[in-house]
Amino acid sequence: MKYDVIIIGSGFAGATLARKFAEHNKKVLVLEKRNHVGGNMYEETLDNKVRVHKYGPHIFHTNNDKVFDFLKNFGDWYFYEHRVLGKIQHKLVPIPFNFKSIEMLYEQKEATKIKEKLLKEYPKQEKVSILDLINSNDKTIKEFGQFVYKNVFENYTAKQWNIPISKIDKSVINRVPVILGYDDRYFQDKIQYMPKEGYTEIFSNMLTHPNITLELSTNALNMLEIKDDKIYYLQEQFTNPIIYSGAIDELFSYQYGALPYRSLNLDFETKNMNYYQPTSVVNYPNDEKFTRITEFKYFSCNIVESNTTILKEYPKNYDYRDENCIPYYTIQNEENLNLYYKYLELANKISNLYMCGRLAEYKYYNMDAVIERALELYEKVSEKYFK
Ligand code: UDP
Repeated sequence: MKYDVIIIGSGFAGATLARKFAEHNKKVLVLEKRNHVGGNMYEETLDNKVRVHKYGPHIFHTNNDKVFDFLKNFGDWYFYEHRVLGKIQHKLVPIPFNFKSIEMLYEQKEATKIKEKLLKEYPKQEKVSILDLINSNDKTIKEFGQFVYKNVFENYTAKQWNIPISKIDKSVINRVPVILGYDDRYFQDKIQYMPKEGYTEIFSNMLTHPNITLELSTNALNMLEIKDDKIYYLQEQFTNPIIYSGAIDELFSYQYGALPYRSLNLDFETKNMNYYQPTSVVNYPNDEKFTRITEFKYFSCNIVESNTTILKEYPKNYDYRDENCIPYYTIQNEENLNLYYKYLELANKISNLYMCGRLAEYKYYNMDAVIERALELYEKVSEKYFK
């Protein structure tokens, strides 16, 4: 066999695994459907020199030293703590909701009462889930929770997911807590950095290695065939490991039906002004049809003076038959996971086939979590095949 490993997809799952195998002297073939590497982390530099995240904003943050140590090998990173404001009652207040948000939206006396109650009720915590607040037995806390729920979560979540908030997995809502203090960062992780020259450069460095053959604009599903629980690459049985990071339902021709996702319409606009908004991301939980506006200049080290480019995100349903529609968000619920497990069962019958990544594992992965998973999978697969 010409290759020791075949990897489908060049997002963080595929690129991490490709690099690890390549560094350990394995010949790796990476098949990428798009005409570029990096999956949804890919950027484009526009004529005005602003580097935009073509598939929506990606902010790196992690508590995992191993993951960041790995990434540091592929480019320079600069310290960047993400801060988000939300338009609530015509004011731009910190999101996640913190003590400053309370002070901006309540009368001073009421604000003091809420802050004191929160500190008393949750003395050892830096943050608390909105779901805990609305279920509190304390009247002040419960009412405050309901206020945040109504103004920050309810409409944003309805726009983003198009199902009632009660049907959303708690882990999704808990991504955005209420902060018990003045910390106004969006993430509380200890490591928060962004790539100086962008994610695309990181990917390109990861995948540039004498042991890696990268084929862009190549749909692996036209080259792979699954028959009697065996997998064939260009009609020949492939018995070395194959790592698949594409959509698992597509791999099995949607035979049990399509896995549901949410998609987005991304609307980029270039404005003739130096800056459009006071921070990189402003959330619009309420009246607007979009959920948030990202201004990319804030992520770029090369600031362009005279104009700026922003992105509005409009959530929409995903339709796998529409080739312009991208599956951005998995919709975690029992029914969808059960459907996923049926596909996983098919995948597990093929002993040398491994699923890795958001689409293959049907998981709302952050970037660091998918790299961590890929590093672990590398150990597991190399142990089985190459030790
Ligand atoms: N969310 C919300 N209001 C906000 C921000 C987030 O209701 O202002 C909820 C919403 O349901 C969203 C989830 O929290 O889908 C997770 O938000 P996050 O910012 O982590 O989403 P991502 O950046 O992955 O799109």
